[in-house]
Amino acid sequence: MKERLVLIGNGMAGIRTLEELLKQDSERYEITVFGKEPHPNYNRIQLSSVLQGDTELHDIMLNDYDWYKDNKIELITGDAITHVDTERQTLYSAAGVERPYDRLIFATGSNPFMLPLPGADKEGVIAFRNIQDCETMINTSKSYKKAVVIGGGLLGLEAARGLLNLGMEVDVIHLADRLMENQLDGEASGMLKEELQAQGMNIHLKKQTEALIGADRVEGLQFKDGESLDADLVVMAVGIRPNIELAKETGIDVGKAILVNDYMETSHENIYAVGECAEHREVVYGLVTPLFEQAKVLASRLCKEDGASYEGSIVSTSLKVSGVDVFSAGEFMDTDETKSIRVHDEFEDTFKKVVVRDNYVVGSVLFGDTSDSPRILSMMRSSQDVSGMNKATILPSESAEDNAGSAVELMPDEENICGCNGVCKGEIVSAIKEQGLTTVEEVKKTTNASRSCGGCKPQVTELLSLATGEDASQAEEPICGCTDHSHEDVVAAIREMELTYIPEVMNVLGWETEDGCTKCRPALNYYLGMVNPLDYEDDENSRFINERMHANIQNDGTFSVVPRMYGGVTDSDQLRTIANVADKYDVPLLKVTGGQRIDLLGIEKENLPSVWDDLGMRSGNAYGKGMRTVKTCVGENFCRFGTQDSIGLGIKMEQKFEGMKTPHKVKMAVSACPRNCAESGIKDVGIVGVEGAWEIFVAGNAGVDLKKSERLCKVETDEEVLEITAAFLQHYRENARYLERTSHYIDRVGLDTVKKVVLEDEKEKAALNERMDIALSIEQDPWTDIVDSEDKQKDLFEKKQVSITT
Ligand SMILES: Cc1cc2nc3c(=O)[nH]c(=O)nc-3n(C[C@H](O)[C@H](O)[C@H](O)COP(=O)(O)OP(=O)(O)OC[C@H]3O[C@@H](n4cnc5c(N)ncnc54)[C@H](O)[C@@H]3O)c2cc1C
Ligand code: SF4
Repeated sequence: MKERLVLIGNGMAGIRTLEELLKQDSERYEITVFGKEPHPNYNRIQLSSVLQGDTELHDIMLNDYDWYKDNKIELITGDAITHVDTERQTLYSAAGVERPYDRLIFATGSNPFMLPLPGADKEGVIAFRNIQDCETMINTSKSYKKAVVIGGGLLGLEAARGLLNLGMEVDVIHLADRLMENQLDGEASGMLKEELQAQGMNIHLKKQTEALIGADRVEGLQFKDGESLDADLVVMAVGIRPNIELAKETGIDVGKAILVNDYMETSHENIYAVGECAEHREVVYGLVTPLFEQAKVLASRLCKEDGASYEGSIVSTSLKVSGVDVFSAGEFMDTDETKSIRVHDEFEDTFKKVVVRDNYVVGSVLFGDTSDSPRILSMMRSSQDVSGMNKATILPSESAEDNAGSAVELMPDEENICGCNGVCKGEIVSAIKEQGLTTVEEVKKTTNASRSCGGCKPQVTELLSLATGEDASQAEEPICGCTDHSHEDVVAAIREMELTYIPEVMNVLGWETEDGCTKCRPALNYYLGMVNPLDYEDDENSRFINERMHANIQNDGTFSVVPRMYGGVTDSDQLRTIANVADKYDVPLLKVTGGQRIDLLGIEKENLPSVWDDLGMRSGNAYGKGMRTVKTCVGENFCRFGTQDSIGLGIKMEQKFEGMKTPHKVKMAVSACPRNCAESGIKDVGIVGVEGAWEIFVAGNAGVDLKKSERLCKVETDEEVLEITAAFLQHYRENARYLERTSHYIDRVGLDTVKKVVLEDEKEKAALNERMDIALSIEQDPWTDIVDSEDKQKDLFEKKQVSITT
């Protein structure tokens, strides 16, 4: 019989231990994992990116449920271990589950420290530690305005940036006299403060909170100096405490955390600890690099008794705030025993400092340009004697590097590229060469480099380019973890093999999962419909919820309904109808949208079909990956500056492209003069009237990633605008990757490539227009379709009664 190994804690350190163990001996143990959170193992580091809108929750899963199944690991989520009986070698969970063990790992991580202030238990006072905290912040930002983050460290600033991106006003309260005082010296910290203030954060230093005020929900903060501040949400990011209560109750020796030796063994035989809950040589680590190093050591201890030992780690940190590059490692403050090299470039707003003690680099701070970080970290880790090196070799200037080649190219093979996972340049290069890797995703999967914080992705990409001789930043990436095939491969296969439905694509291309995932299914559904619009039947179940329900789901589970108003024009009859519907269904909020439409918010799911029927208007498609609205300014008929009929053209465009499905949402606008009142400069397609002509702009974006559109061409007639817009959008439909906005698409392929086809090649322009017409010919109003179909209404919208028998 196999030995039974049980892991308490389904987080990053625990699961990394199992990954390392499976690599060494996948047959040795029968494994069970208990996780308190109701999710498989996810990348906690990337919660900051989720909050900042750079990635989505489903993208941060490190090991999905299939991974556990495939490796024969029993996973019990949403259940905490509450008692360990070391005599009977048995664990007991809160939900009453019992499991015996031969070996037991504690990987229980940390709990966020909540300041014990009066009022800290009020609604709206949270930490930033897990998916639930992240969701609370996202949801709160939809109804509230003012957020306060207590703590100006790494985590607090990442939370603050995320809350700014969510549209909240953000104040950061910090007790010390400078931000990130544990990682930055005064100079770098000052530069950071200036940058964050310029991004919109209000920063209060040397400020101590005395109490949180409000009734049930927090309404503000009271400070020791007598001042106060309003707040609808308070995020405490003031540190973490190792989660050691269970270990303590079990009788295991603890200090600040669970005490472990160099093999991650606790005071009890066959019980180990790893990660943030472990204390090694009086140090408790709170970053993944050391935890992964510990995981490796523990895995070999569990496989072969004489494995390597853990000697402690040198840690470094980077701030993950867009537009701010900050790196810090080791001893960064000057003392009597240290000397430092400093380069402060006030033109480029960069600051670099390397601290040397007794001829060894012992610390560094980089601000604005962190490209030297892997090299400096490597000098520290390898204890390189720098006595024979001159200053320029320790901290090369940009021009010196330019002359000599890129920093990555110059690195020795043993230098670390991925700090989080301890992967050196040599390992990456050999994997690329020996296994023929061509994408960053493949390198990530094979070597673990860039799998955690993603900070080293630029270096990995550069190494890939150097090793393959191709520009890796343009390389095709797999659609998702279910397959190695890229978007381009899949579209080519659908075309060549005339594939017609999702299981067929998965079967022919050897998908690694049975049913795909939430990333690949919607993409396949789109590609199949795009390639073969006349014969493909849309797979509703492969769409996101808003697209299935044809309305936008809100934070309370109700929906919002936006009827179509071509060009943003309405009339008194429509307004009366909307008002009647709002009264009849007790609509809690009527709101004019940014796209010049009227949004009826707070509609119950089961009322959607009758609301649509009563409105008698077409769907505004405000929920889907497709054409949303054409916003218009009033134009020549009313405005003194107008040179063209913007409303007329806007209505024609909206009528033509209504219902069009695209890789991501498409927003358009028509302004009748360069004053641009319809904001054509930030739309996917923006038209601007000039004397006797229209200028066409494309690939603008007003979202998180704000981007001004680029000028495509100038034409004279409305018909030409429609023709060129159709060619551009069809090119985008056929060549962009699913979920790629036009701005990212043009960044990737280049505007000139598109111009060549859409403007210069008459034959291709006509062919694109023809294919667009075919695609548009099948579109019909989804609301009417549902109102006319009792089956669809029953299926999608009827309230289902579930009887529960006890
Ligand atoms: C927003 C954010 C950003 C971060 N950014 C970085 C970064 O840029 N770089 C970096 O290096 N680090 C970063 N970190 C820190 C890093 O995420 C942690 O160091 C790492 O996740 C700790 O791993 P762990 O496995 O020890 O603990 P965790 O990941 O916390 O996992 C422990 C798990 O055990 C579960 N558990 C606890 N008790 C029990 C029980 N009794 N029964 C069952 N389950 C239990 C917990 O619910 C938790 O899921 C960040 C952390 C956060 C929150
Ligand atoms: S864009 Fe020009 S024409 Fe249109 S409303 Fe503004 S000023 Fe008037």
